[in-house]
Amino acid sequence: MSDAELKRKAQRINSVSPSFCLAKWQQVTIDLVNGTNHSCHHPKRHAIPLDEIAINPSALHNTQYKKEQRKLMLEGKRPPECGYCWTMEDCGSQYSDRIIKSTDPWAYPQLEKISKMPWDANVNPTYVEIMLDDLCNFSCMYCMSDISTGVAQEMKKFGPYNIIHNDHRMGSKKEIDRTPYLTAFWKWLPEIIQDLEVLRITGGEPLLSPEFDKVLKFLETSGHERLTFVVNSHLGHAGRRMDEFTDKIDRLLKLGKIGKFELYTSVDGQGLQAEYMRHGLNYSTLINNIYRVQQRLPGTELVVMATLNILSLGSLQGLLEDLVEIKKFYPMVSLDVSYLRHPEYLRLNIATPDLLERLHHALKWMEDNTPLYFNEHELKKLANIAQWSSRPDIGVEGLQLRKFFYFIEEYDRRKNRSFLEIFPEYKNFWLVCKERIFNSAFVRPEGAAPVVPWSELPRDGV
Ligand code: SF4
Repeated sequence: MSDAELKRKAQRINSVSPSFCLAKWQQVTIDLVNGTNHSCHHPKRHAIPLDEIAINPSALHNTQYKKEQRKLMLEGKRPPECGYCWTMEDCGSQYSDRIIKSTDPWAYPQLEKISKMPWDANVNPTYVEIMLDDLCNFSCMYCMSDISTGVAQEMKKFGPYNIIHNDHRMGSKKEIDRTPYLTAFWKWLPEIIQDLEVLRITGGEPLLSPEFDKVLKFLETSGHERLTFVVNSHLGHAGRRMDEFTDKIDRLLKLGKIGKFELYTSVDGQGLQAEYMRHGLNYSTLINNIYRVQQRLPGTELVVMATLNILSLGSLQGLLEDLVEIKKFYPMVSLDVSYLRHPEYLRLNIATPDLLERLHHALKWMEDNTPLYFNEHELKKLANIAQWSSRPDIGVEGLQLRKFFYFIEEYDRRKNRSFLEIFPEYKNFWLVCKERIFNSAFVRPEGAAPVVPWSELPRDGV
């Protein structure tokens, strides 16, 4: 979209009201496991009331709460839950996500219709992301038990991580009866399918879910060519399961029951280090499956999402190099980097300078391979993250470093791994973490492994 067109569209959006955002009507992420939703992904998820979906399945999206947020927008008032955009706009950002999302192809064509609707109307969204199931055989380092049975099983076996303030991967999962949400979804989907432009399935791991199979069967009869079908998968599957999956997608494409297929997968480093971060991952299987999808579904847009965290720094460049090898044959494979926000003790910006140097080296290498293998957008995202990470945050008295230390000790114990064997380049960082523990007034959590005082540490290693 040209600047002039974006400007014209932004003016039209603001003419409805200066706080109007089409994402509140047209986009939704629904979690059928925990009974929550949000429009868009910035506001916190809110509960889907059971009494509302009992009489109106569209309340999976059109909750009374959300309708009240829409009313505020139509009146030119700012819903507090959209603080992310108000902050951007108050800081002088020309185009906040409110404008970016409202001008997306699945949103903007709906503007005239939506702006004339009463605030409490039930609306068919055009972009639906749905978490059908939490079934997953991985237990990734920063994942939570409410979205992965793999993490939930770990919690059941070992209990919560005994970290300062107990702020991550905590507690037992609150079991709720998901039947009413699933029932409402299967009633609602046939009503909205003809208006849908993007249907995105997330998890858990969709390829393990019987509900996902039902979606594929549903599309065989009720899909349409205007639909972009998107799947998030960890791609950690044996060849046979992958072949069955790609055959089904191929059939939907050939029948014209979907117009386009996109696949998103996740990996945060290379090789053994990537496997450490995402427990259950086999790195070679993942890479083979990227090739497999490209060979069996030519032209599929496949996005490798890397959530960069403190442990990504050891092998980020290796991951970039592997991606280049893939991109040489399959340019439809792209990289989308973001940075991990929670938990804070796994964030990039607790890194010591020697580790940050690795990030800048990887960025330089990426620059050298742009535009031949990476595009400006891919490069810019990594450059922004590199800039952000150089603002260190180790917390009061190195709180985040201490938390990191306790987390890794326990993670190793649970997974029978040895951090420094897999991450030898983190030796200095590990020593710094240990030193923070010895030199702080902090009281160790009950049951945590003993820590060797700094003065007794071997000088050549840990
Ligand atoms: S105003 Fe911003 S935070 Fe609110 S729904 Fe729109 S894009 Fe999301």
